[in-house]
Amino acid sequence: MKVPAKITAAYGRAKAARLKAHAPYSKFQVGAALVGPSVTTGCNVENASYGGTVCAERIAIFKAVSEGVVEGVTDIIVVTDAPEPAYPCAFCLQVMAEFFDPSLRVWLGDLKGVRSMHTFGELLPHPFGPKQLGDAREAAAAPIERRSRAGASGSGSGRKSGRRK
Ligand SMILES: [Zn+2]
Repeated sequence: MKVPAKITAAYGRAKAARLKAHAPYSKFQVGAALVGPSVTTGCNVENASYGGTVCAERIAIFKAVSEGVVEGVTDIIVVTDAPEPAYPCAFCLQVMAEFFDPSLRVWLGDLKGVRSMHTFGELLPHPFGPKQLGDAREAAAAPIERRSRAGASGSGSGRKSGRRK
């Protein structure tokens, strides 16, 4: 497959970041690189609690957010040594949904090079996002208002006078 030069360069950065992985439990090292106005790398960082583990993709995204360079990211490269290039996990896809458009290109590679490209929209066609949260809040808003009004007028004054004797 034809891989743009800037992707090949970022693949090299992701492959190098992979070697910094802290993966004493799974022994599965992953490197990632985001490509935008700048390149931001990440590696997986495992934890003895297991639940504290964070994937390479999310490390790269969180770094880019914290450094103010997540705007304008167009590509992410993920490098593993798996026999079949590994896709980002569902946690990482959900985090991608927070920051990227469906057009984000997700390049998967092994130690020999870039093997395939998918758009983010192909990998997660129906992400949960702020729209769903907004719709849910709107739907819930009326009952919440009714509940708080009932609480203020009902038990509120009675309880106060009871405490003061
Ligand atoms: Zn992940």
